[in-house]
Amino acid sequence: MLRIPSISADPAYAKDVRAAASWVGKRLENAGIEHVQTLETGGHPVVYGDWLHAEGQPTVLIYGHFDVQPAEPLELWDSDPFDPVIKDGKVFARAATDMKGNLLLPIVACEALLNTDGTLPVNIKFLFEGEEEIGSRSFSGFLEKHKELLACDLVISADSGVGTEENPTVGTGVRGVFSMQINVKTADMDMHSGFGGGIAPNAIHELVRILDSMRDEDGRILVDGFYDQVHTLSDDEKAQVAQFDAFPEGIRESVGFKEFFGEPEFTPMERGVARPTLEVNGIWGGYQGAGGKTVIPCEAHAKLTARLVPDQDPKRIQELMEAHIKAHTFRSVDVTIEDEHGTPPYRVPGDYPALKVLENVMEEMTGHPVKRQWAGGSVPVTSLFKDMLGAETLSLGGSQDDERPHAPNEFYRLSSFTHIQKAYCLFLQELSKS
Ligand SMILES: [Zn+2]
Repeated sequence: MLRIPSISADPAYAKDVRAAASWVGKRLENAGIEHVQTLETGGHPVVYGDWLHAEGQPTVLIYGHFDVQPAEPLELWDSDPFDPVIKDGKVFARAATDMKGNLLLPIVACEALLNTDGTLPVNIKFLFEGEEEIGSRSFSGFLEKHKELLACDLVISADSGVGTEENPTVGTGVRGVFSMQINVKTADMDMHSGFGGGIAPNAIHELVRILDSMRDEDGRILVDGFYDQVHTLSDDEKAQVAQFDAFPEGIRESVGFKEFFGEPEFTPMERGVARPTLEVNGIWGGYQGAGGKTVIPCEAHAKLTARLVPDQDPKRIQELMEAHIKAHTFRSVDVTIEDEHGTPPYRVPGDYPALKVLENVMEEMTGHPVKRQWAGGSVPVTSLFKDMLGAETLSLGGSQDDERPHAPNEFYRLSSFTHIQKAYCLFLQELSKS
């Protein structure tokens, strides 16, 4: 499976994404899963299979993806990214941890249960997609179309990790995201600054004024209403976040920035997972070649993203951003907005019964208390599952933070195959008793 270069971003590898889909389908069938089928999405295909003979038991949908990130830069790999090497109890290959190793775990766990008990403790549906690494583009349309086939009581995302055996964690939330591009056009063509300077507006300056109006020097967002829907952290939630307070310092050291940035009234960890952000991700315009050029640019562009937290709604944020940009366009210049996308934030409800079952299993297996962890990133499928299937999503996978997902020399610990496979078996068994 690791030898298949199922790179979803590059059309040249479309047949390999299909090859990975058929590998997964065959593996599901070999494990005793039924109704295995490849379903079309308009983009890369989805693989589905189920086992539905646990009468009166809940139905668990297990989600993952078989597509991978490009392997570049190839020169930084110690071995061929698509020719796996096993060294020191780790397998090195593109997608080893994200997420071909994780994808196999629930399949082999169900296979083991079927081989030993002849049955599964709960009903299982497997759903593996081929576009996760390019933003699950076709997925919401696909879910909408196959709502009945995919109906379930609970989703488990295998594209994840549960900390280490010494320090187990369960993921209970992700931030949402909103993105946009701003374009400023001040004239039909660039001008010589010798005669334009002093009479014509400059697109870069106009853009910079708009961008600068959006944040204060501490990163507080000045867009009117931006914080209106932000959930205020309870003392319990603050304590939960504080368990990971050492994490930002490790990031700061490894990335090499000198001091933390952001709202001083919140801790770095709170800012990283429980506060919204607004960032310029790219900006371009004017002359960028060698030497100088005395020009007044007529166009400038910027890409922005905001990370969103409960209970912010990306549609509302889009309206507020558009209103802000309109109100902060200082002259008669053309400002257009494009490429607006949003995904809402997601939290597993703290009292969700299956969450407790998972925590108990991890606690029993590791002998350590389990910490609930929110992530600063975004997993769009979680809110899609909630909206379209009405199901909460729990995470169960073997990835650990140091396994270099998306980076050269990506690896996966072989010990995860036993540890997390066992966790799947116990969790599904305990779920049937709860
Ligand atoms: Zn990934």
